Parts: sequence; C-alpha cells; structure tokens
Amino acid sequence: MAERMLKFVGTPQALPEKRPAAERRRDFQEIYERYAREKAAEQAARCSQCGVPFCQVHCPLHNNIPDWLKLTAEGRLDEAYELSSATNNFPEICGRICPQDRLCEGNCVIEKGFDSVTIGSVEKFITDTAWEKGWIKPIRPRHEKPQSVGIVGAGPAGLAAAEQLRRKGYQVAIYDRYDRVGGLLIYGIPNFKLEKDVVQRREKLLRDSKVRFHLNCEVGRDVTLEELRQQHDAVLLATGVYKARDIQAPGIGVLGIVAALDYLTASNRAGLGDTVAEFESGVLDARGKNVVVLGGGDTAMDCVRTAVRQGARSVKCLYRRDRANMPGSQREVKHAEEEGVEFVWLTAPQSFLGTESVTHVRSVRIHLGMPDASGRQTPQEIPNSHMNVEADLVLKALGFDPEDLPAMMQAPDLGVTGWGTLKIDWRSMMTSLDGVFAAGDIVRGASLVVWAVRDGRDAADHIHSYLSNKTATLAVAAE
Ligand code: FAD
Ligand code: SF4
Ligand code: SF4
Repeated sequence: MAERMLKFVGTPQALPEKRPAAERRRDFQEIYERYAREKAAEQAARCSQCGVPFCQVHCPLHNNIPDWLKLTAEGRLDEAYELSSATNNFPEICGRICPQDRLCEGNCVIEKGFDSVTIGSVEKFITDTAWEKGWIKPIRPRHEKPQSVGIVGAGPAGLAAAEQLRRKGYQVAIYDRYDRVGGLLIYGIPNFKLEKDVVQRREKLLRDSKVRFHLNCEVGRDVTLEELRQQHDAVLLATGVYKARDIQAPGIGVLGIVAALDYLTASNRAGLGDTVAEFESGVLDARGKNVVVLGGGDTAMDCVRTAVRQGARSVKCLYRRDRANMPGSQREVKHAEEEGVEFVWLTAPQSFLGTESVTHVRSVRIHLGMPDASGRQTPQEIPNSHMNVEADLVLKALGFDPEDLPAMMQAPDLGVTGWGTLKIDWRSMMTSLDGVFAAGDIVRGASLVVWAVRDGRDAADHIHSYLSNKTATLAVAAE
C-alpha cells in the first residue's frame, strides 16, 4: 500500500470551505467552495484502504471508492476520473447531493472517533477537474446499431440509461413534458445544492453524443405509449413521482398554502431567467413573509433554505417527530439552522386560520408514543397544547406519490403495485408490457438521485440483453 495512505490518525477531517451563513443567505450559489488539489489529495490519503470497504458496500453504485481515493492521493487524477466514471454517470452530481451521511461516509470504518473520509467532496473534485481539463468527451460508439430506444423522462434515471445505451451504439430518443432536461435535478433541487450549469453541461454532452431530446412532449397527451412502442424497439419509463401528498384540515383551501414542488420549481425557473407569473405576483415568493414549512424530509429542507434566500421575514419548519426521527439529512438541518431557520419539532398542524389568505397555522404539540408495526414511535397529540404559529405562506412538503400512469398514458395493461408505482420483474426490469422497461422513482417511490442512476444503468443493461436476444431470435428464424 502506498505510504501516503492511512493518514486519518494525523490528518483531521476537512470538508471544503463552507461559505459563511450570512453570505449564503443572500444568494443561491452552492455553499461549499472547491478543494484545492493538495487538499483533495490530503483528504483522500486519510482512507485506510479497507479490505472490505463498507463505504463501497453502502454506495448504491458500489463505486470503487478506495481505489479512486488512492489515485487522488497520488495525484493521478485522470485515472481516478476513469475509475469513478466507470460506475457512475454523474459523479460530480452525486458528490454534491447524495446524503453521504446515510450512505458511503456514514459507513466509513474510520468514522468512529476520527470522522469519515470526505468521499463525496473528493468525488466531486475529481469530476469537476475532469470537466475543466477536457477529459470528458462526447460518446462515439464503435458501432452504430440500427435499433432505437425511446426513454420517457429526462431525469437522472432516464439520462443515465440514455448514456449507457448510447455507449452500446443504440439510437436514443428522450421524451419529457418539461421544457428543460434534468427532471428534479433542474426544477426540484435548488441551486444552492446543485448549480444548474452542472446539469446543463451533462445535457450538452448527451446532445453532442447524438441523444435526441423531444421536450414539451408529454406521453399520454402529445404522443401515446403505444405510438412510442411502434416507433422504438424498446421503451423505458423513467417518469418520477409527482403527485404531492396533501393534508386534510379545516382552512386548507385558503390562499397562501401551496405545494412545495410548485414553490421550488418557480424559484428554480426564476433563477434560470424565466418569467414566472406566480413568482412575479408574489404568490410563490417568500420575500417579507412569515413562512411555515410542513414536513421533515429533504424537500422541506430545500423549501426552508429557499425561503431564507428569498428574504422571508421568518422561516419555521413544523415537524411532528423529533430531530432524531426526521427523514431529512442531518447535514441539511445543520445548514438550515446556521442560515436562520427555526425548527419546531414535535408539532403538527391542525387547521389553517385566515379569511382572505392564511394568517396562522393552528398547531398541537406531539408526544412520541410506543413504536408501531413499522418500529417507528407513534405521534400522539398532547391535550390542551394548542398554539397559533404566524404564517403568510405555508409550504406543504409531505412527500410524493405516483400519478396514475396507466390512465395518463392510456395504457390500461401497464401493471402497477398497490402503491401505484410501476410493477416490474426485477430480473429484467420489464413492466407488464413486452419491451417496456421502467426505472427510478416511478418504480421505487420517491428516492434518491444515486438510486435513479443505478436503476437507469441496470435498465440499460436489461434493454441491451432484450434487444440482443430479439436480434438473435430473428436471425435464427431467418435461416
Ligand atoms: P425525475 O427526476 O422526477 O424525472 C422524471 C422526468 O419525467 C421529469 O423530467 C418529468 O417531467 C418527466 N415526465 C413525467 N411524466 C412524463 C410524461 N408523461 N411524459 C413525458 N415526460 C414525463 N435526491 C438526492 O439524492 N439528493 C437530494 O438532495 C435530493 N433533493 C431533492 C429535493 C427535492 C425538492 C425533491 C423533490 C427530490 C429530491 N431528491 C434528492 C430526490 C431525487 O431528485 C429523485 O429521487 C430523482 O430525481 C428521481 O429521478 P427520476 O429520473 O426517477 O425522476
Ligand atoms: Fe457516496 Fe453517493 Fe458517491 Fe456513492 S455516489 S460514493 S453514495 S457520494
Ligand atoms: Fe477508506 Fe473509509 Fe472506505 Fe475504508 S470505509 S476504504 S477507510 S473510505
């Protein structure tokens, strides 16, 4: 093993410089600076090169982390990039937005007492360097194949599949109802976590690799799934989940109570230079308002931090469980607290007050009772603990469910699970329709970018096997 590794005892963990909260509150730029080359090498050298690397086991892409850390420590960044991009289509995106504390870094064996290796930041550094040095080139397949694949959805699952299929020489067309490429990478996740030019340079790379995009094209409205099946040799559905969960409570219909994704999309569009009527009119702008966000997941964290940057008067996050039991990343909570967000734990909304528009969220304090069948403690209301929380804008960040895809796509034979996600055979990733595959959130339910990338890659492999078998069968039949 290279002598330069195993430095975790003498070298403390150091993430890239985090910009001061007061500065972050005023803009939408990413909050971390970049590692200098020497710093990245120094931090990569903290890795102890485990024989059984738990970081790799717990990365959904099983990235070869110890090896690219070692190459980074040795200054062999071009090789580190080759290795890291062999298992991940978007390492610089995952490096920025994976909840590393729950995945690779959270399982790094040197975490206890010494703090984990900063895997995500090094991964981002390697690929950002590769972009700058011009090492990332459009795909030029050795052999073009005549077969084409239609992909519905230009989010991370669809884009990862497109890249993998293009590498194998297939003709790839992506259909998306949005006007931009990226799915939630472009319109969901805010700029301060993922700057949009990082997504757009990936789009350009795919366009330069001859992936064709059909934007503003909703499958089910502008073209049917059946038509796509006629046009292409295989179809991949990677449509994500977009039906916002709602809350039934008195006063819910009053003005000023909006769905989180509408709010975040408006903010992202405004940042991209679009004119958004509801943003301009103030309906989806938090400036000068008392903002209350309902929920404790990553979407809620993105809402509170966006509201701060828009110049809200106050920002509160109401969540019915406590900090230890929230689904969102602890790192995000810390960033939000630094930026001035107030978390009101163990509190649930009961009704919304206001006649013209919302003025208060009437809430009740919660006690966590005995665990239920899922093992989570059951929230129970504490009697006579009501309070009114001032609010001019309430953002509902309560999670997402799948839309009714068989109805939407006029494909009644498309099988779904009890949760409305697409039913696939996990050995082939094929849906109930021959030659129609599915990947990403529409299969898993609301999940993570890194899982969408993994699914997109797996689906591409299965589509390749399916089309190869089909070609072989046709050849035999023709003999
Ligand atoms: P999506 O990204 O949702 O893309 C689906 C695409 O399909 C969209 O572009 C949509 O327009 C298109 N589409 C849908 N229906 C049709 C149709 N009928 N015809 C044509 N096109 C259609 N994950 C992380 O790992 N880290 C984070 O920090 C993080 N933050 C998040 C913040 C927010 C606010 C949200 C909502 C999610 C976040 N996630 C995060 C989750 C992550 O974004 C998703 O898991 C991931 O984007 C799923 O990828 P996907 O390709 O399956 O779907
Ligand atoms: Fe960690 Fe995500 Fe990178 Fe895997 S893809 S190594 S989980 S940051
Ligand atoms: Fe290195 Fe930590 Fe992974 Fe071990 S678990 S190989 S120390 S990054």
